[in-house]
Amino acid sequence: MSETYNIGLGNNDAETRLNADSDYVSFWDKQARNLSWFSPWSKTLDWHPPFAKWFVGGTINASYNALDVHQNSKSKKPAILWEGENGDSRILTYGEMFAQVQKFSNTLKSLGVQKGDRVTLYLPMIPELPIAMLACARIGAIHTVIFSGFSATSIRDRVDDSKSKVIVTADGGYRRGKIVPLKEVVDEAIQGFDFVENVIVVQRTKNEISITDKDKLWDELLKDASDVCPPEKLQSTHPLYILYTSGTTGKPKGVLHGTGGYLTHLYSTFKWAFDIKDSDVFFCTADIGWVTGHSYVVYAPLLHGATEIMYEGAPDFPDASRMWDILQKYNATIFYTTPTALRMFMKFGDDIPNSFDLSSLRLLGTVGEPINPEVWKWYFKTIGKEKCPIIDTWWQTETGGMLISPLPGLETIPLKPGSGTRPIPGMNITVVDENGEDVAPNTKGYLVIKNPWPGMLLTLWGDDEKYKKVYWSKYKNCYYPGDYALKDSDGYLWLLGRADDVLKVAGHRIGTAELESCIVSHDDVAESAVCGIPDEVKGEVIIAFVVLKQGVATDTKILEKELFEKIRNDVGAIATPKQIYFVSKLPKTRSGKIMRRLLKAIGNNEKIGDVSTLEDGAAVTEVQTAFDEIQ
Ligand code: ATP
Ligand code: MG
Repeated sequence: MSETYNIGLGNNDAETRLNADSDYVSFWDKQARNLSWFSPWSKTLDWHPPFAKWFVGGTINASYNALDVHQNSKSKKPAILWEGENGDSRILTYGEMFAQVQKFSNTLKSLGVQKGDRVTLYLPMIPELPIAMLACARIGAIHTVIFSGFSATSIRDRVDDSKSKVIVTADGGYRRGKIVPLKEVVDEAIQGFDFVENVIVVQRTKNEISITDKDKLWDELLKDASDVCPPEKLQSTHPLYILYTSGTTGKPKGVLHGTGGYLTHLYSTFKWAFDIKDSDVFFCTADIGWVTGHSYVVYAPLLHGATEIMYEGAPDFPDASRMWDILQKYNATIFYTTPTALRMFMKFGDDIPNSFDLSSLRLLGTVGEPINPEVWKWYFKTIGKEKCPIIDTWWQTETGGMLISPLPGLETIPLKPGSGTRPIPGMNITVVDENGEDVAPNTKGYLVIKNPWPGMLLTLWGDDEKYKKVYWSKYKNCYYPGDYALKDSDGYLWLLGRADDVLKVAGHRIGTAELESCIVSHDDVAESAVCGIPDEVKGEVIIAFVVLKQGVATDTKILEKELFEKIRNDVGAIATPKQIYFVSKLPKTRSGKIMRRLLKAIGNNEKIGDVSTLEDGAAVTEVQTAFDEIQ
């Protein structure tokens, strides 16, 4: 755990942390002034736990800050370099985005959408998605984006929950060369929903669609719309969007984010973490259907007037070289992706990335799950050629933006593979025991956040009680993220997995990430997921699922022995799994996170609960078969 890498970008701004530490409220007050406000706030923070209101009385508009403010200096600068899965490409400048967004704002208004109304966006990764989001923001409508891989039932639940008046979708979207018929899915999802007044259809794939009397075509509507729409002057706390969480631990929660605080958080973290410069070409691979896409594909880069790449399809389509090809083509300087994607790239071997010129890269990032140190090192060496700092960013849909991450745009500190290092300035984040007492360094416990922050969710949509219960009831006046963690003697934070997934063997607690990272550090292993199942003697025993790297032909009996030995040496005999299963894939959410709760439920013969965000049912069948063999 103590291996360190001294790599930074030469920035050393100690003052920012000093200011933040002395008074986080004044600190954020100062940061908020980087944005353009229509009128100033009268109170920086109104904190009635667990409800925080930032910049009370101030008026602002997200779309104004993303577009209008750049029109004098950057109207010809590319905002989005869009790459279609099928090889199509489009470049949208800040000027073009500005015109399109205003046209769509006027369209929404002409359909009767008003401030506070909800608009569901069920679109593939095409420029119309950020355009529609910013158009909603411009008129104060609340967007609720649904990932375009979801089924009719998942959409139905979410649309019913948000009571959206308008749905924006596409005829279809490309995924692995095939057309996904999105409009058809929407038709099924909203049957009988009278509150949905209009469905707007972008024609992306030109597949045949049935047209009902609610339907209107995007192009037709925009043709006649005016490209001048003044932004609404919205209260800082006006809701910007509802977004449902990934569903890794259960039924997705409808997270509600505000405007002024959220934008302040994004503006600051984007600068500190990514060291963003006017010359950068930023590429975040997240789908806009997830929070990473909302915060760091749509809002943060546009607030900064940055140029970014937006990619439509699967990261390994038509083959495993697609991401490297895109990075090379656009001379990308910053790359932000997930551990799950990196493990997949690693599985395909080094020759593929090595055959591309990735020399334009200067900074790499990851988000979504704990990154296994082995994967971190691969990213550092093979992709970053040992010259790019890696930012391992911890945050959640609920937090709005990063809360723990190295910040090479602000300071240079040694990096440790697998650790998100320290909280961002202004945050008091610690690790506590069951009773809420801070634990000693190097002791495992629960991550807690002890002060409010500007990107913090307002509440869960329509359910303040659930908001209080899920995040604020375990510890008094502390936000509980539900993650297991450790702080080392240098004050670095290590995320060890979900609190719900902690393994308890013979009185010892082991985070899933510790054990999985050990297994993944074996040369033949691409991925692993571990879970506990009940055992009459030990209380709980560990079961491990392992996916091998491409082309590995080792005898699994020998490999199993090697893994047992590795675990005994690196983690301890106590962590030795009762059984290791070799499978071809793991059950994951559509955002790529391992759903350990499914493994656990199957192992416990329990109902598997909400699977609306499960990526591939076949992975569950494989796990089920493996378990059936033991019983
Ligand atoms: P649900 O809340 O519905 O179970 P989810 O928690 O997966 O879904 P997200 O908000 O997308 O939904 O994910 C946030 C979680 O992802 C964090 O609580 C944490 O467990 C994990 N995570 C994100 N980034 C990191 C990181 N850098 N290191 C470790 N874990 C991370
Ligand atoms: Mg969560």
